[in-house]
Amino acid sequence: FIEMDHIRKSFGSLEVLKDVTLHVETGEVISIIGPSGSGKSTFLRCLCQLETINSGSIVVDGQTMVSTPEGSSRAVYAPAADVRTICRRMGMCFQHFNLFPHMTVLDNILEAPRIVKKMKTEEIMPKAEELLKKVGLWDKRDAYPSRLSGGQQQRVAIARALAMDPDIMLFDEPTSALDPELTGEVLRTIKQLADEHMTMIIVTHEMAFAKEVADRVIFMADGIIQEQGKPEDVFEHPQNERTQNFLKSML
Ligand code: ATP
Ligand code: MG
Repeated sequence: FIEMDHIRKSFGSLEVLKDVTLHVETGEVISIIGPSGSGKSTFLRCLCQLETINSGSIVVDGQTMVSTPEGSSRAVYAPAADVRTICRRMGMCFQHFNLFPHMTVLDNILEAPRIVKKMKTEEIMPKAEELLKKVGLWDKRDAYPSRLSGGQQQRVAIARALAMDPDIMLFDEPTSALDPELTGEVLRTIKQLADEHMTMIIVTHEMAFAKEVADRVIFMADGIIQEQGKPEDVFEHPQNERTQNFLKSML
């Protein structure tokens, strides 16, 4: 499980995360919603080390990635190799799929296990086939990304992240670059992972999806978790006025 405590993050004088604490149980699915600029992406990026935090702590399954000594206001990171080991357990999938354009779908899937885990192609193939079938794209394995629709590319990106056998999947608006008719197929793929009890944190603007897929919904605004709870509580009986206004604006 993931323990993020008292996370603070600033860009220059702009304080983007102001003491954010979130604990995620193994197998739990969290949706993060909130207005643009509220710090949702920054929060995810801090978890997978695409950003460093200023202070606070991040512990994954008891392994400390970063902590802040008592009385200090400066975060101290674990040795780089340890941080890398922890981050390898997380798969990421962002708005722009960032597939390798010069590689086929299949090679996109095989690349990271080959390079990072030093696996041989024949060792990864069964898994690659299973994953591409799972996202419905086995028949596209020899195609280049430019020949796929946005929804298909995003599903390849999900399969590619899963090829590394992550324990945790992080999604940042996985459907917001897609035409509406293509979002469904990507959301179904994510829903399937939720049904298999993959631990996931999903930043999304798709309220219906957040409600359906999440065990817990987090409403973030101004770099603070303003409200959190079961989807039915947050969506149907929001307590915080900011949540109420945000949800009204999303209708
Ligand atoms: P959106 O819903 O639009 O994706 P968000 O909640 O994901 O918004 P963030 O991307 O986390 O918001 O950004 C929070 C704030 O931090 C914004 O004001 C943004 O301009 C600022 N910010 C993010 N990344 C950087 C950076 N690398 N350097 C400077 N400022 C940044
Ligand atoms: Mg964002």
